[in-house]
Amino acid sequence: MAHFKFAVSAAFAVSLAACATDNGYQTEHFEAEPAIALLQALSADDMKGRKVGTPENARARAMIVERFEALGIAPGSDGYELPFTYGTFADPKTGADAQPESSGVNVLGRIEGTADRDIAMIITAHYDHVGEIDGEIYNGADDNASGVIGLLAAAEYFAANPPQHDVLLLAFDAEEDRLGGSIAFVADPPAPLDNVALNLNFDMLSRGDNGKLWASGTAHWPEMKPIVASVAAEAPVQIEMGFDEGESRDDWTLLSDHAAFFRAGIPHLYLGVEDHPDYHKPTDDFDKVDQDWFLRSVDSVVMVAIEMDDRLGDIYTMRQTASD
Ligand SMILES: [Zn+2]
Repeated sequence: MAHFKFAVSAAFAVSLAACATDNGYQTEHFEAEPAIALLQALSADDMKGRKVGTPENARARAMIVERFEALGIAPGSDGYELPFTYGTFADPKTGADAQPESSGVNVLGRIEGTADRDIAMIITAHYDHVGEIDGEIYNGADDNASGVIGLLAAAEYFAANPPQHDVLLLAFDAEEDRLGGSIAFVADPPAPLDNVALNLNFDMLSRGDNGKLWASGTAHWPEMKPIVASVAAEAPVQIEMGFDEGESRDDWTLLSDHAAFFRAGIPHLYLGVEDHPDYHKPTDDFDKVDQDWFLRSVDSVVMVAIEMDDRLGDIYTMRQTASD
């Protein structure tokens, strides 16, 4: 039986016996066991694939809010939940025409920085997945319950070790439906994004099938390369830079929530693994996750967040120079 140091409410209680972290890796920046338990809970069959607009999607959102509250993360000025509408624009992935308007709910938390300088980093991960298709549940353990755990691990670290600069923590809805949550957020943010230096986006952190975690975005923002390289030299997984130029699926620049920030001229860094055999399949399950590698991966993305906070002034200068 595992021991848990945070309260899991009765409604979201998961089978504790089944999720002991059976590996030797000791995490440095977050607690492993609650992270594994939440990965399992978010990708369980009873979450029915967390499709935007469903009760199970709302349950996933409630789990994130509950974790923010437990960590003492402050909400945005209108609370943790940011409802939005989307769909009146062409599909940014396929170019298909606008479809009937839909609605979703993003989740926002906020950690104040210790420095006087008023610049911010926005850390993002989408919590929705594609739901049930033809009677099969698409659990989306890697895509993107794993990124949500990365987001919450960064929240846990910065709650205990305040960042220098403001950190916004955003769990996006409707990524799987035309990148709806991120596009709506950037189009109509609760506060202007002029002071945002960086979007750090986590999408698919758990499948180290080839042992690599990719950092995508430095082709657009080459000044970030030495910063990423310095983390890669210390990280417990192999971090490589790429997938940000070239043909179709070799360029991930427009394929996840960082795209909205990129289009707005805001620097981004996307961390994720390559497509794997279970990508967007009903078999993207919790039991396919190599827990040891996943915990190393999450520690690594928190290390990237720490380094980015440390260098955020330089990154903001890069944004300003690019827009001149
Ligand atoms: Zn995804």
